[in-house]
Amino acid sequence: MLTIDAAVIERSGDPFRFEQLAMDPPGPGQVRVRIHACGICHTDMVMREGALPIPFPVILGHEGAGIVEAVGANVDGLTAGDHVLLSFHSCGVCSACHDHQPGYCREFVPRNFLGLRRAGEGDIRRGEQPIGSNIFGQSAFATYALAHQDNVVRIDADLPLDLLAPLGCGVQTGAGTVLETLSVQPGQSIAIMGAGAVGLSALMAAKITGAGCIAILDRHAHRLELARELGATEAVDDLAALEGVFDHIVDTTGVPTLLSQAIAMLAPRGTLALVGAYPSDGLAIDPSAIMSLGRRIVGVVEGGIDPQRFIPRLIAYYREGRLPLEKLVRYYPFAQIEEAFAASERGEVIKPVVVMP
Ligand SMILES: [Zn+2]
Ligand SMILES: [Zn+2]
Repeated sequence: MLTIDAAVIERSGDPFRFEQLAMDPPGPGQVRVRIHACGICHTDMVMREGALPIPFPVILGHEGAGIVEAVGANVDGLTAGDHVLLSFHSCGVCSACHDHQPGYCREFVPRNFLGLRRAGEGDIRRGEQPIGSNIFGQSAFATYALAHQDNVVRIDADLPLDLLAPLGCGVQTGAGTVLETLSVQPGQSIAIMGAGAVGLSALMAAKITGAGCIAILDRHAHRLELARELGATEAVDDLAALEGVFDHIVDTTGVPTLLSQAIAMLAPRGTLALVGAYPSDGLAIDPSAIMSLGRRIVGVVEGGIDPQRFIPRLIAYYREGRLPLEKLVRYYPFAQIEEAFAASERGEVIKPVVVMP
């Protein structure tokens, strides 16, 4: 048994409370990672509010980065001392996983939100009481995590773990949507709705593809300014201010009323990618506006990528200076996680990252 420090949410909507918990040794397929840093993602906020089917009490955090300390049985290719980024969890055997599309794994919900443990796996406990500690197969708002072979991506030891932590969810979601799901081509036009971490990652990726017009929409003037710095050719706070039509539109806002407006702005054969967290009701669309011009709407989870293949690609762009994540990230000591959440909710910080002591 190892004693770890974790930020626990007791019931939905509660603040974080720090406590010491007991961690089992890693079981079959598991990897014990000493967490150095963890990004805060919008989904953590949605989970804290109880809007997703997670167990309480719970340890959130799904953009962990750290160093492997121990591996369980049946773990290949990872050893103590490896520097790793953590990503989402998948089964590895369904047809989507087989096609390197683990974001569409048939077990995505049980493995990432319910965080169910399999027989023989190590767990984290408060006395005899189990804690939800397998969220996205990691629960990384803690000094240690029990991750899994499939959601651990090894990286070179010279890379900054704290800066690259958000690659495992927010950054790969935005960049993967543009580079893989939409496969934006040089000279094409793209509009991105929302200049948060996912939207700005989509923007950096659009710049990498050589897209022509790159437009972005957001309510916050400081985010629009940063978007211009990162390569946006148009940055507006009202969709109606954009002229022309777009080959691709990426929605990261989850605001249903923007979607019918966006569909009308798609070029013939253009595609709208849905990347936000949407309410389960409230989208009225005109099917003939999609049908008659051969337009498409596609849902996207985690960018539609395989982290084992895509994170190394993102790291290559980072090394070339084409993924300037330092412009998005602000660091907080782990003890200030509550303040980091609040700053993100107020829209002041694009990507908070908590750094463990
Ligand atoms: Zn699967
Ligand atoms: Zn996320």
